[in-house]
This record gives sequence, structure tokens and C-alpha cells, in this order.
Amino acid sequence: MQSFSEQVTIEKILKARANIRAFVKPTPLFRAEKLEELFGGAEIYLKLENFQYTGSFKTRGAANKILSLTKDELSRGVCAASSGNYAQAVAFVASRLKAKAVIVMPENAPAAKVEGVRGYGAEVVLYGLTGGDREDKCAELTQQYNYCPVHLHDDPMIIMGHATVTVEAAEQIRVLSGSFDEIVFPCGAGSLLSGAARASKSLMPNTKVTGVEPAAVPRFTMSLKEGKPLTVEMGQTIADGLRVGRAKPLNFELIRDNVDNLLTLEDEPIRRAVREAALRCKIIAEPSGCIGIAAALDGKIDTGAGRRICFVITGGNVDVKLLTDILNM
Ligand SMILES: *Cc1c(COP(=O)(O)O)cnc(C)c1O
Repeated sequence: MQSFSEQVTIEKILKARANIRAFVKPTPLFRAEKLEELFGGAEIYLKLENFQYTGSFKTRGAANKILSLTKDELSRGVCAASSGNYAQAVAFVASRLKAKAVIVMPENAPAAKVEGVRGYGAEVVLYGLTGGDREDKCAELTQQYNYCPVHLHDDPMIIMGHATVTVEAAEQIRVLSGSFDEIVFPCGAGSLLSGAARASKSLMPNTKVTGVEPAAVPRFTMSLKEGKPLTVEMGQTIADGLRVGRAKPLNFELIRDNVDNLLTLEDEPIRRAVREAALRCKIIAEPSGCIGIAAALDGKIDTGAGRRICFVITGGNVDVKLLTDILNM
């Protein structure tokens, strides 16, 4: 039998890249000299997915998934459960395809996020507070109205769409000068890290792949230790995009097989990373998006001279109040 991780191949990732071209934009690979001043001599690059359509890399996975649907599935409308960036991504892609999108969001979703999703023409259903609530509601609506569900987690099409960010970064650094010594990704449910790491191992085999998850929700660190996918209790973290308790099997396998280094990190350096990105680089990144920089600020990544490190800045959808607090700190 084909193992899970054999479904995610570099050939299919390259195909995804061509497939989604009209739905995503190539984002800049930015040399961050002003951040380098904080470190030990390494060259620092930022892959800026905060400039992606909808403000996060999730548009990549959403596009690859929705483009894989049949005409019939698409005409029924798509339904997804999300509290965060995936909601906007699905709404955006569906609207470009002139398909209906129904997004189940939590009752306490910030108005700005709900308006963002509605702004792309999607219908928003506010329901419950937990991820489980939202998934149940999504299943119910799917049943009732015959929508086509497009779940975010553990789906090879989503994973391979996300992975195109590595393909792009690898091309960009090749044009400049060779490759990275290390590439660093935030890790929540792990759909980004799993596919992006897989792509990195094919395209840049000598590049160390690092993932960073919040210390409050260390699902993959614990799962790797135990050798099987686990669900951990969800602690609080400022990195709201990384608050996922469950390690799912496909992501687990891919992370186990392709990630060299998995770190956990507290919130304090994440706040500092948001601040340094804004003030030094003039880049607005959300907390989840700069947990990699935060790990370096915390001394957990070797930033010594002669190394070339890429941090994937996954998104820029930060709450204005939180951003203001961080800038004033
Ligand atoms: C979703 C998200 C992540 C985490 O991606 P996973 O695939 O869940 O690990 C990181 N940063 C941002 C900005 C996100 O929206």
C-alpha cells in the first residue's frame, strides 16, 4: 500500500505550482539586513507571505484544493470551517471562480475577520467556539445543502499547495546565490511544514529544515517523542494561527520524515519578533507568522557568520489593537 507520505511528491508539488499560478502571487524574498544586526553574522532572508493575496500563505493550499474539485462539486458551493486565515483564503479563491463559499466561523470571531471573509462575497455562519463545533456545523450544512466540504487539515492537495512557497523560495535564492543553510517554518496543524519540508528535501537537499511551534501547544514535539500522532491540551498563545491541539497522521508522517529540527517557543520572543519586523524591516507580520524569527531572537537557531537562513513569514493579519500594544511595549 502507498504510504500517506508517498502521496505528496515533488512532481505533484511542481504541478500544483503551475496550477495555482493565477490565484497566488509570487511573494518577495527579502534580505533583512536590519535584522542581521541582532544576530551573529548570518545572512537573513524573509519569504514574505504577508504580501500574498488575503495576507497569508493559506491562499496557496486553498487554491490547489478548490481547483482539484470537479465542475459539479464546485457548482454545489464549498463549505469550510475556520477561525482564521483559511476562511479568507477559501472565500477569495471561490469568489475568483465565481463559486459559492460558506464559511463556519466561531461566534466570538473578531468583526474585522468576519468582514474580511464577507468582503470576498462568502456567506459566514457564526457557530460555537471550538474547532470541533465548527467542523460539526460544517458537516451538518454540507449534508443539508449538498455543499462540497474543503477541509484544511491532512489533505494532500492543501499540503502540496502550501508547499509551493518552498518551490518559489528555492528558485529565488538560486538566482541570487545557491541555497539556504536553513529554512524555518511556523508550525500549527503542520500542513505548511509537512509539505514545505518535503519540497525542501527535494529541491535543496542540503538545507536544514526547522519548524517552530508554541510551547503552549507542542503537539508535534510530543508526537515525535512518542512516535505517533497525539492530541495535546491547548494552552494559550499569542500565536493564534498555531493553536491546534491535534497532530494528524499525514502531517505527522511528513514532519517525522522531512523535518530536521522541531523547536518550541514561549510568547515573549514572539512579541519581540513582531516588533522588530515592523520597526526594523517595515514589515507587518502576525505573531504566528514570525515565530521563526522569534526562535532566532531567543537563541534557538544558529545565526553565526557564514550561514544563510530563510524565515518564512506566513501571514500579516494581525489584530490592530494587539499590534498597537506590541509597538508600544
Ligand atoms: C495557518 C497558519 C500557520 C500554520 O500553518 P499550519 O499548516 O496550520 O501549520 C502559520 N502562520 C499563519 C499566518 C497561518 O495562517
